[in-house]
Amino acid sequence: MTPQQFRQYAHQVADWMADYLENIEQYPVKAQVQPDQILEQLPDMPPSHAEDFDKIIADFNDLILPGITHWQHPSFFAYFPANSSPASVLAEMLTATLAAQCMLWDTSPAAAELEERMLDWLKQLTGLPQNLHGTLYDGASTATLSAILAAREKATGFAVNRHGFTANTAVLRVYTSAEAHSSVEKAAKMAGIGQENVVKIPVDAHFRLNPKLLAEAIAADIRQDYTPLCVVATLGTTGCTAIDPLEEIAQICNQYLVWLHVDAAYAGTALLLPEYRWMLKGIEQADSFVFNPHKWLFTNFDCSAFYVKDKETLLQTFSILPEYLKTENRNRVNNYSEWSPQLGRRFRALKLWFVLRSYGVQQLQEKIRHHINLAHSLSHQIKQHPFFEIAAPVTLNLVCFRLAPPRLQQQPDALNALNEQLLQRLNQSGKMYLSHTKLNGLYTLRMVTGQTNVEKKHVESAWKLIQTHATALLQGNDE
Ligand SMILES: *Cc1c(COP(=O)(O)O)cnc(C)c1O
Repeated sequence: MTPQQFRQYAHQVADWMADYLENIEQYPVKAQVQPDQILEQLPDMPPSHAEDFDKIIADFNDLILPGITHWQHPSFFAYFPANSSPASVLAEMLTATLAAQCMLWDTSPAAAELEERMLDWLKQLTGLPQNLHGTLYDGASTATLSAILAAREKATGFAVNRHGFTANTAVLRVYTSAEAHSSVEKAAKMAGIGQENVVKIPVDAHFRLNPKLLAEAIAADIRQDYTPLCVVATLGTTGCTAIDPLEEIAQICNQYLVWLHVDAAYAGTALLLPEYRWMLKGIEQADSFVFNPHKWLFTNFDCSAFYVKDKETLLQTFSILPEYLKTENRNRVNNYSEWSPQLGRRFRALKLWFVLRSYGVQQLQEKIRHHINLAHSLSHQIKQHPFFEIAAPVTLNLVCFRLAPPRLQQQPDALNALNEQLLQRLNQSGKMYLSHTKLNGLYTLRMVTGQTNVEKKHVESAWKLIQTHATALLQGNDE
């Protein structure tokens, strides 16, 4: 491609992008394709000769786009959002153009220093303690793994790093709530701790970790000669955004000298609102904290902010210094590859900088508040409907609910089947996208009102559609 052609196509692609974002509501939210449908349209072999760029773009439109689920559609209510915003997209274009690999300060000083400043800004924005040190990761799963690895090395005096697990290594135990994200177990597997040594602490009626049972579990483990290593508390569980009682958990961690990692992957964004800072009470005791601007803070995937108190332990956990990575400024600057499992790193701070500046704190707060209000008014409407029930407290902007007509109340299997059918029909409509979880064994629909551009009208038409499909389903089942 010549520089002139690049310029021409870049303009064409920019127009495509603007058109896409302008017309995004015309696409089905969830891709309406069958397994292998895309695969079968793709050639078995790579092309041996250069292909025309126009042809590549045409195939993108014809083959790829139909198989895309439109996460930036305002009626995307599934999972947690992976939001973008115009400023973030533009920054990603610049990042892609620079294509810098930001493993060391030397390999792009601006990337390292902007990252340092952005992590400091985020700390101020969320009310995190000043003595935390932050870096940007690909995701919360990696952050939780890193936290557990650092905890492991601190607890074993870096013995596992040196010798691996031996017959003398204590059995290390990790505690988290029954509602915690699967990344905790995944991290325990990868860190050599073992899935069986993740102790799932039961939750209370609001799906929050029960601190009394946590203290009991730790005490019981000590009596059995296990070594309590780490507690992972969740602010905003994935199932229903339950907020674990951090202050009580922190006291227990302090008492038993256990590493406290706080997973606020989604809910961290709500900390931009002073009225949600109560969630952080006890945070001074935490050893590490993670939240994902790539979920609810309008910053393209991937961008996860990971903070640790004891930076030296983290760095020593990962430290490995071959000759070719030694640089003159090593002791004066942050070489962020030393903070993480991966060596090569994307320039993630740029999009965050663009987002924070293009919105400003006040507009960010307004948007987040707006999303929370949408959820509360939706939940109010659902509550008033005789055939629906709210399945969990609405703590932020996720509404958990299910269709529960009175005559099926005592039949969990029938209720589960009914709600699964309802979800399928809604998602097949292409007009909205919901996901589900199970709470107390019951199939539960999850509706997150957090997409960057979601407005009242989107939530209202979704709720209408839900009622229409529910009515049809109940009538159909009666026939
Ligand atoms: C989304 C989520 C994660 C996983 O985040 P990734 O960035 O995809 O690894 C972990 N914990 C919670 C509570 C989450 O909501």
